[in-house]
Amino acid sequence: MRLRKVQGGAFAIACSLWCTIAAAQAWTFQGDTTPTWEQVIARYRDLDEHHRGAKLFEIGKDDGGSPIHLFVISDGGVFGPDSLKARGKRVLFINNGIHPGEPDGIDASLLLAQALLESDQLMGLTVNTVVCIVPVYNVSGALVRDTTFRVDQNGPRVHGQRANARNLDLNRDLVKVDSRNTQTLLQVLRRWDPDIFIDTHVSNGADHQYVMELLTTHPAKLDPEVAAYLDGTLVPGLYKWMDRKKIAMCPYFETVERTPSKASWSSSIRHATPRATPRSSTPSV
Ligand SMILES: [Zn+2]
Repeated sequence: MRLRKVQGGAFAIACSLWCTIAAAQAWTFQGDTTPTWEQVIARYRDLDEHHRGAKLFEIGKDDGGSPIHLFVISDGGVFGPDSLKARGKRVLFINNGIHPGEPDGIDASLLLAQALLESDQLMGLTVNTVVCIVPVYNVSGALVRDTTFRVDQNGPRVHGQRANARNLDLNRDLVKVDSRNTQTLLQVLRRWDPDIFIDTHVSNGADHQYVMELLTTHPAKLDPEVAAYLDGTLVPGLYKWMDRKKIAMCPYFETVERTPSKASWSSSIRHATPRATPRSSTPSV
């Protein structure tokens, strides 16, 4: 499953981040910014040092030679996937920054980790579920920052680039596996075998009321029982939850050739790509 947040999401959930690296201090948000890769890793390292139920791992290298990290939140302080599976724990795996110019998931995951580890109300969510977060998957893309990679996107002002160190689009590499990034990720996914996988993205300029778009995997890729759970329970539950929070969510769609203001709505919209196809981890911008 893939959660894909559109530009409004940047402001609703993780608009701008001013990182405070001092130990035990909460993140605060200020201005139209997203943290650098160094700041993101420093924050996860800080959480690791202050919480028994959190650990930051290096899982391999990207094509630029930088380390790719995995941050694991595990109630009880056990971090081996085999041990956790044996205890009946579910695994939620979130991959951020496959396109570093789309940093909402990077920012939101920092908030999620903080909330799960430090909020009395939310700690219970990890009793049966282990949360694995790749802070930034395309590290080399995140290290190249500029103001013009995503000109139609509504912030942040400075952000990373789409391609990695070898100019590969990593969201087109999940099958051909040319990059070290993909080799690293696949190795970790095989180890953790997550129950739910989320890949976070941001659109480049969609202008509508929805804060978030949701694109789920194709049911043909799932066991029939899992597909039935996805359609009958999980997705309806997500929409109800977002409704209760008054955060508008819709199925993923994109405009084609003309904007809705210059054409009929139906002719300008490639509708709700019903399900992700297998050509990449998810089809995306
Ligand atoms: Zn993307």
